[in-house]
Amino acid sequence: MTSSIVVLGSTNMDLVAYVAKAPARGETVTGREFRTVPGGKGANQAVAAARAGAEVSMIGAVGADDFGVRMRAALEHSGVDTDLLRTVEGASGTAHIVVDDEGGNAIVVVPGANGTVTSLDHGDEALIGTADALLLQLELPLSVVVEGARAARERGVRTILTPSPVQPLPPELLAATDLLVPNEHEATALTGETDPAAAAKALLQQVPEVVVTLGAAGCLHAVRGAEPRTVPAPRVRAVDTTAAGDTFAGVLAVALTEGRPMPEALAWASAAAALSVQHEGASTSMPYRAAIEAALA
Ligand code: AMP
Repeated sequence: MTSSIVVLGSTNMDLVAYVAKAPARGETVTGREFRTVPGGKGANQAVAAARAGAEVSMIGAVGADDFGVRMRAALEHSGVDTDLLRTVEGASGTAHIVVDDEGGNAIVVVPGANGTVTSLDHGDEALIGTADALLLQLELPLSVVVEGARAARERGVRTILTPSPVQPLPPELLAATDLLVPNEHEATALTGETDPAAAAKALLQQVPEVVVTLGAAGCLHAVRGAEPRTVPAPRVRAVDTTAAGDTFAGVLAVALTEGRPMPEALAWASAAAALSVQHEGASTSMPYRAAIEAALA
C-alpha cells in the first residue's frame, strides 16, 4: 500500500561556484563553473520520499521569484504535491556555496521565504493528520517545527526529525519526536559525546528511538531497551555525498510507513543513500524506487 508522508521544511536554491581555492576576505578569484540546483533539506527529503514511492506533500514557502517557480516545478516533477507550499513576497531561500578543488566548501544560507513560515493553519494541520509520518528538519523557524511536531503527535502521526542545522532542541520538540535521525556530528553536538553509541544512548533519554548516520561507515540504530546496533553501508565509490543524509531520512520514512521493520527499513535507506552518493548533485542524484529495489535484490 502506498504510504503518505508530509514534509514540513525548507526549499533553497543552491547557488554553487566551483573554484580552485576559495577567496580570502577582500580577495576576488575566478571560478571554473557555476550551477543552480534546487535544494533545501525539506525539499530534498520530500523528493527522496516521493521517488521512493510514497505520496508526499510539502508544507513550506518559496519566494515570488524565478527560483521559487523552478523549485516548485522540480518538486512536482518528482511527484511531490505542492498545494500547501506557499508563494510569498520577496526572495526564495538560497544557499551560496563555494566548493574548492579539495572538495571543501563554505556555505551562506539566506532563509528568505523559509523564514516566513512561522505558523500552521487549519489546512496544514488537517493534511498532517492524514499522513503516516511527518518529516521535520531545522531550516524553518523553530516555532513552526515545534507546532508541526505537536500537531502530528496529537493526531497520532509518527514524527521523524533530522536535527540539522544542529541547535539546542527544546524539550517540547523532543517530547513530540518518535525518531531522531542526526548525523554523527549532530549527535555529538547535541550530547557532548564523541562516541556515536554513547551519544545515541544519551539521546534515548529524550526520544524513544535514534538512528545516527555515519557516512561511509553506515548508521547506528538505538532503541530503548536494546543495545545500539551498527548497520554497515554498501561499499560504493562516492563522488558527491551532498544530501545523502536527506535521501537516507526520506527513504527510511517511506520504508517504515509501508510497515517494514526497522532492520529492513535501514537496508532500504542505506541502499538509497549509497545510490545517491555515486552521482553528482543533491536532489538530482536521488534514486527512484525501481533502482532501490534493484540494489536490494
Ligand atoms: P551522512 O549524512 O554522511 O552520515 O550520510 C548519510 C547516509 O548516507 C549514511 O548513513 C550512509 O547510509 C550513506 N552514505 C554516506 N556516505 C556514503 C558512502 N561514502 N558510501 C556509502 N554510503 C554512504
